[in-house]
Amino acid sequence: MREEDIYDVTIIGGGPAGMYAAFYAGMREMKVKIIEGKDQLGGFLHTYAEKTIWDVGGLPPMKCSKLIEWLVQQANTFNPTVIFNRQMERFSRLENGILALYTAEGEIHYTRTMIIAVGRGVAEIQRLELQESNDNEPINLHYTVQNPEYFAGKRVLVSGGGNSAVDWAIELAKVAQRVVVIHRQSEFRAMERNVSDMHEIADVRTPYQITQLHTNGERINQVGITHTVNRDHIVLDVDEVVISHGYTSNLSDLASCGLMMSDGMVLMSQHAETNLPGIFAAGDCATNESKVRLIAGAFNDAIVAVNRAKQYLNPEAAKMAYVSSHNELFRDKNRNISRS
Ligand SMILES: Cc1cc2nc3c(=O)[nH]c(=O)nc-3n(C[C@H](O)[C@H](O)[C@H](O)COP(=O)(O)OP(=O)(O)OC[C@H]3O[C@@H](n4cnc5c(N)ncnc54)[C@H](O)[C@@H]3O)c2cc1C
Repeated sequence: MREEDIYDVTIIGGGPAGMYAAFYAGMREMKVKIIEGKDQLGGFLHTYAEKTIWDVGGLPPMKCSKLIEWLVQQANTFNPTVIFNRQMERFSRLENGILALYTAEGEIHYTRTMIIAVGRGVAEIQRLELQESNDNEPINLHYTVQNPEYFAGKRVLVSGGGNSAVDWAIELAKVAQRVVVIHRQSEFRAMERNVSDMHEIADVRTPYQITQLHTNGERINQVGITHTVNRDHIVLDVDEVVISHGYTSNLSDLASCGLMMSDGMVLMSQHAETNLPGIFAAGDCATNESKVRLIAGAFNDAIVAVNRAKQYLNPEAAKMAYVSSHNELFRDKNRNISRS
């Protein structure tokens, strides 16, 4: 291991928590690496890139894809090393205290501290468990909505009960001929305000689940849905089917490395510390009593984790970075901005 291969902080995951941590660690003049399991930064935000985001402090409502763009730009301010398509699987501490991080692809990365910002892990879409949908999936069966306009004037069935299903139902109902939403539970697990909006503009049927897909070769033209309690069965004519049954995630590997978990998430202190020295957590993968699972919450965790990592490396370091107005690092950058 060469000295130049050792980073002050390695951030696992390039979602909002990881990206903001990279920026903030740059502000703290740390040598930063991000390891991201996919081929792009942005994390879970890519699954609702078309949604309008309202609740990030100080920003006007904007398409999530725009927010991703800005976050990526900000994350790169201090030129961190970013490694894509590498999934951190496990880690160990060497005799000299350096952490060795092992990826599923067979690489080892060395770091003095680590911030775990893996969200739900490298999330995989929960696919529809029906024989018809597994072999040669029909072309009008969707697991994500990239372009709501594609659904304009069509009869759409949305299946699911979480935030994504509700958000998509609302977006699609604005352009589709008709949106039917089904959920196998009576209650939706989504923001109350959005659930009310959905009830106003979509045809919501609960508790129903999909039990049959009728296809004419490559397209689904009818969907059989069954009431989960009284077994009432209805056949709906459809043009497009959107499945939003959530994601499977695997954070259990972290537990096997000695990290203390709670409800499948990494337990962190109010200072974003895990039970292991030099290892911090941020964003949706972390939990404590005051954890907020929002983009703004991820930013806050990132700041706390970086400041703590900085002090771990140098106990004399200031508790937090100088704010941008007093931070020398921005002097030249400010000059360039005021010139342009
Ligand atoms: C449908 C839906 C709508 C939402 N809408 C809003 C909203 O309007 N406003 C809001 O504030 N919040 C919203 N949220 C919440 C918000 O998306 C999350 O709080 C945020 O994405 C958390 O960021 P994160 O960085 O912790 O995790 P993520 O965004 O999940 O990013 C984690 C990253 O880590 C990577 N990764 C995982 N495991 C590994 C590994 N082992 N090695 C390397 N890389 C790894 C993943 O590929 C991913 O890129 C919404 C959530 C959902 C589900």
